[in-house]
Amino acid sequence: MKQLVQGVLAAALALTAGAAAAQERFITIGTGGQTGVYYVVGQSICRLVNRGTAQHNLKCTAPSTGGSIANINAIAAGDMDMGVAQSDWQFHAYNGTSQFEGKRVEKLRAVFSVHSEPFTVVARADSGIQTFEDLKGKRVNVGNPGSGQRATMEVVLKAMGWTMDDFALASELKPAEQAAALGDNKVDAIIYTVGHPNGSIQEATSTVEARIIPVTGPAIDKLVAENPYYAKAIIPGGMYPGTPNDVETFGVKATFVTSADVPEDVVYTVVKAVFDNFERFKGLHPAFAHLKESEMIRDGLSAPLHPGAVRYYKERGWM
Ligand code: GLU
Repeated sequence: MKQLVQGVLAAALALTAGAAAAQERFITIGTGGQTGVYYVVGQSICRLVNRGTAQHNLKCTAPSTGGSIANINAIAAGDMDMGVAQSDWQFHAYNGTSQFEGKRVEKLRAVFSVHSEPFTVVARADSGIQTFEDLKGKRVNVGNPGSGQRATMEVVLKAMGWTMDDFALASELKPAEQAAALGDNKVDAIIYTVGHPNGSIQEATSTVEARIIPVTGPAIDKLVAENPYYAKAIIPGGMYPGTPNDVETFGVKATFVTSADVPEDVVYTVVKAVFDNFERFKGLHPAFAHLKESEMIRDGLSAPLHPGAVRYYKERGWM
């Protein structure tokens, strides 16, 4: 009899465990290259979410991807639940403009914004490049298709009245490959829309003599004046070797986005994991150090907020 009771108990326990395992839900966050900051955003969010898996059954992974456009496309296709994307591409995806003309991602939803991302051009010192105009006729890594910087570079070129043919070479290396290409003299300059400081630009400026180039002039002024998702930006002097003074450019915000198809409780749980542990989150990358909750729930967001995020922000009295 005792044995029978134990057997039944064991079976019941096994069933409960089975049921819990069945309820476990995996969520995927699209990031960027491993030397960028998006990768750390995704890994950091997942780390905080996964600390609570025993309570909420969510298990989070944040693989490396091609960047903003690739993440938005993966969310639109239902291949990923969430992702990081530049504020300009969040805007265009939701509104069906620019690269997303005829491919509007109506179900794109904003969750929060993260750090600022200056449009960053780094040139070898021996290339003679001092200004953005000097890139004409040079070998430039314009970035991999799918990345935010590649898409934004195309917007900048159009605004300047240039095409890819204005470069001697327009290579499509990924962020993780471009610092080495600059060091090996395969290209004269590289482009990265990225938070600072970061390991990628650090690598690029410490393996060879190189400097950060200003991105200014009437075409840039016009872009910033006409588009709410762009702003003037400064890359602080002294952050990287070769660039002792502040450099003027323009920039966007990194934003965290999802789909209207992702359930409210899932987004709520992810947002809660980040903001209930906000000091810990801010400590996970120097680019997060100055983040403020009040700005993150507003700046750079143009798609509607996901209801799961709204629920948490209301609970905290932020809305
Ligand atoms: N802004 C870049 C992109 O959209 C990614 C930057 C990063 O990985 O930190 O592709």
